Amino acid sequence: MEKIYYRLPVILQNITLSTYGLYIQKIRHGRQYNDFLHQVQCHLGLSKKDLEGIQWEIFRKLLADAKKNVSYYREVLKDIPIHEVRGVDDMQKLPLLEKEVLRTSPESLIDERCEKEKLLLIHTTGTTGSPLKIYCTPDVRKKNYAFYNRFLLMAGLRYTDRRATFGGRIIVPPDQPIPPFWRYSYFQKNLLFSSYHLRDETIESYIAKLRQYQPHYIDSYPSSLYTIALYSKKHGIDLKGITEGITTSAETLFNEQRMVIEDAFGAPVVDQYGAAEMCIFIGQCAQGRYHVHSDYAIVEFLREDGSKAIAGEEAEVVCTGLINPIMPLIRYRIGDKVVVSDEQCSCGCAFPVIRKVIGRADDVIITPEGNKVGRLSPVLKGFPVKEAQYLQDAINAVTVRLVPDEGYSADTAQKIVVELRKRLGQEIEIYVELVERIDQGSGCKLKTIISTLT
Ligand SMILES: [Zn+2]
Repeated sequence: MEKIYYRLPVILQNITLSTYGLYIQKIRHGRQYNDFLHQVQCHLGLSKKDLEGIQWEIFRKLLADAKKNVSYYREVLKDIPIHEVRGVDDMQKLPLLEKEVLRTSPESLIDERCEKEKLLLIHTTGTTGSPLKIYCTPDVRKKNYAFYNRFLLMAGLRYTDRRATFGGRIIVPPDQPIPPFWRYSYFQKNLLFSSYHLRDETIESYIAKLRQYQPHYIDSYPSSLYTIALYSKKHGIDLKGITEGITTSAETLFNEQRMVIEDAFGAPVVDQYGAAEMCIFIGQCAQGRYHVHSDYAIVEFLREDGSKAIAGEEAEVVCTGLINPIMPLIRYRIGDKVVVSDEQCSCGCAFPVIRKVIGRADDVIITPEGNKVGRLSPVLKGFPVKEAQYLQDAINAVTVRLVPDEGYSADTAQKIVVELRKRLGQEIEIYVELVERIDQGSGCKLKTIISTLT
């Protein structure tokens, strides 16, 4: 389908994207979505105690159902008297769920009362590059987007407003040399820009299009807007008035990036951190603080020895999703870290505050054409690969280290290289190296990209 899409004229690509957008819209915002949004909006006014009450009510049922109807939990909880878990503070009596379980046997985490064939399947790669499968229902997706749109509303933005997006999907043929480097999804009022064609020679066409389109807000990887903002600063191009708001996600937003982007566009940036596993949602409020949306998930911040971290400490995130009972993830080690805080926020919501998210602090790969490509994890979606890491020590070459999974063949490697070429261009040499495992530095998170370029 992708091959056919690339050969179509731009107008037909726009129609294809719009049709797909309509389908997505139906899943995300169809019937019942408004009820979910109303419900989660009401939670904004609740006290900390009331929110804990909601968490506990949902979790108590989730845990009992999991022990009864989910094969993985039936096994690991068989000797644990779950009636002794009497509140969120007792979570530590329950075992942790490793990512490896989700990767190798996702089916063992599905509620047996569901018919697997009727469920929605979401492919993701998470932050460590290992492909994962998440099962849910359309209602779970709608709930998920109700939470996302609550985050937008907190920042004074609406998903129904005209928006521009810079993301990981390849919506423009990789070898297209001239504009337009964007496509339009009509029903979503979304102008999708290609992050992969963004370089010094093309940036001005992006700026001209943004100025003409005047999106109400821009949703972007931090690195894409940072590239545009830096360029405009260097060449004295004014970006003010193009948009009223900016949201970022998927990569770590560094302070330097935020300052340069806000200064160039004259608009505030609100950052969001979530996961396709639907077990954590952290979003900045209008005051700029990072709030853990506690009606979406129970999030624990733990030290290396498993004890609770206190304000100021760097901690591992362990999360229990509350919105997807189809595939309950209880005390799931997602692999990211945050700096804990005990600050209160004056914005009015009682969600706990964290100082910052320090997961996802990846480097970028720089191509011979001068593109900076930050997020490569979408490349491996659906491939039989356990983990991946990218190494660059010369401008014209990159090595991909792969830990192969069952079903891997020489053909897989070729297909992965084809996918990588779409993002990294034709000039760079791509080497594939198969390894048994990828070493994790002492105590720190696995780095997906290691670059020694200065
Ligand atoms: Zn706040």
